[in-house]
Amino acid sequence: MSDEEQLEKLAKQIMVCTKCELHRSRKKAVPGEGPTHAEIMLIGEGPGFHENEQGRPFVGAAGKFLDQLLEQAHVTRADVWITNVVKCRPPGNRDPLPDEIEICTGNYLQHQIQLVNPSIIVTLGRFSMGLFFKAAKITEIHGQMRKVGDRFVIAMYHPAAALHQMALKPAIMTDFAKLTELLKEARAELGRSSAKGRAPKNEEDEPKQMSLF
Ligand code: URA
Repeated sequence: MSDEEQLEKLAKQIMVCTKCELHRSRKKAVPGEGPTHAEIMLIGEGPGFHENEQGRPFVGAAGKFLDQLLEQAHVTRADVWITNVVKCRPPGNRDPLPDEIEICTGNYLQHQIQLVNPSIIVTLGRFSMGLFFKAAKITEIHGQMRKVGDRFVIAMYHPAAALHQMALKPAIMTDFAKLTELLKEARAELGRSSAKGRAPKNEEDEPKQMSLF
């Protein structure tokens, strides 16, 4: 099965998933979307009201702000893979619980990351950051690119947080503005060409282990 087909298969499983309690209150699960081998993957926290209605990630107010942030970084949404730590909306937008995060990332996100195989993962918010940098404080590490396993991870503030706390807005804008430069750096470090020049993966390119969490 091709990577694209495997991503589609995962999406179908996510849409009918009943592995945790979040499925009880969801309208639509939100698997994520983007080009199969996107160089950049954005990982948010979990679907909100609008995402739960539409089954697509970041389509509400935070999503509009995210689009602006990407645009100023000269990256379009069509270039990136966007998903979340948990694929179903936590009721009332509460924080996802540790077991919900573990079940959802273990069954879905880890596989999505392996299949898309991005050069850079941008974590949006503390739950997503916590998957890669357990004890880190976002105030200390936001905007810094760090190697994690076979790729780079940059922790950024969540766009919704920046919408609600104006003081965070300059930081998230500055961090996003660096994205294209950081992508060039990541490509050089990983010995990868740009997405257009990226050859389809073969067996030898497969990540050897689930080294991400
Ligand atoms: N916030 C998130 O973390 N993810 C979404 O998809 C929308 C809002």
